Amino acid sequence: MKLIKVEEIEFFYIFPEDDLIKEETILINNLVIPESQNCFNRRMGGYASKQLIETLQNGTDTRLAIFKVNARLATIPLKKEYDAYQTHCLFWTNKDINLKELDQKIKDDSYTDEDFRSAVIAHVQYAFCRHCRNKYIALVCDKEIYMSMYIPKHIPLSDNYYKKIDMIKTIRCPNCNEFIGLFVLRFFDKVEDGN
Ligand SMILES: [Zn+2]
Repeated sequence: MKLIKVEEIEFFYIFPEDDLIKEETILINNLVIPESQNCFNRRMGGYASKQLIETLQNGTDTRLAIFKVNARLATIPLKKEYDAYQTHCLFWTNKDINLKELDQKIKDDSYTDEDFRSAVIAHVQYAFCRHCRNKYIALVCDKEIYMSMYIPKHIPLSDNYYKKIDMIKTIRCPNCNEFIGLFVLRFFDKVEDGN
């Protein structure tokens, strides 16, 4: 794991050989946040199987990253601001990227913003198709991720998001080929069959 800063966002880059659970635990245990608010730390394990985590952590177009988020946005009654961590997936829309080379560049501190220009931040979630009623585990990009991120004040809150969303080729339901209303980057296992 290494703390890096690209496109003005600071985050922890997870290498293919890292132990994700260990790294998440170290970060979360060092936080001083109200006990009952632990739910705002979004670990990867709650949504993805061990096998899926390994696939995303070492994919040809995916890596994992732990982002610091401003939890105040999610807790209006709580006046106090505090940090939380969320593990998400970086997905490169440019398939020419060589992530093994990028891993090395990050270790050598020779990476640039350009290496991440085509990378979007996405999370693993359930995706339900209202047309055929199948339910899948999917990799999805959404506004919520970009809205809660620590992004410097001079950058309009959603600038980043709109730029990224334009690069996405939204894929359709693998069963009925309809759009399902989410920016789905990849479908994984079917968890419920609508038929
Ligand atoms: Zn469908």
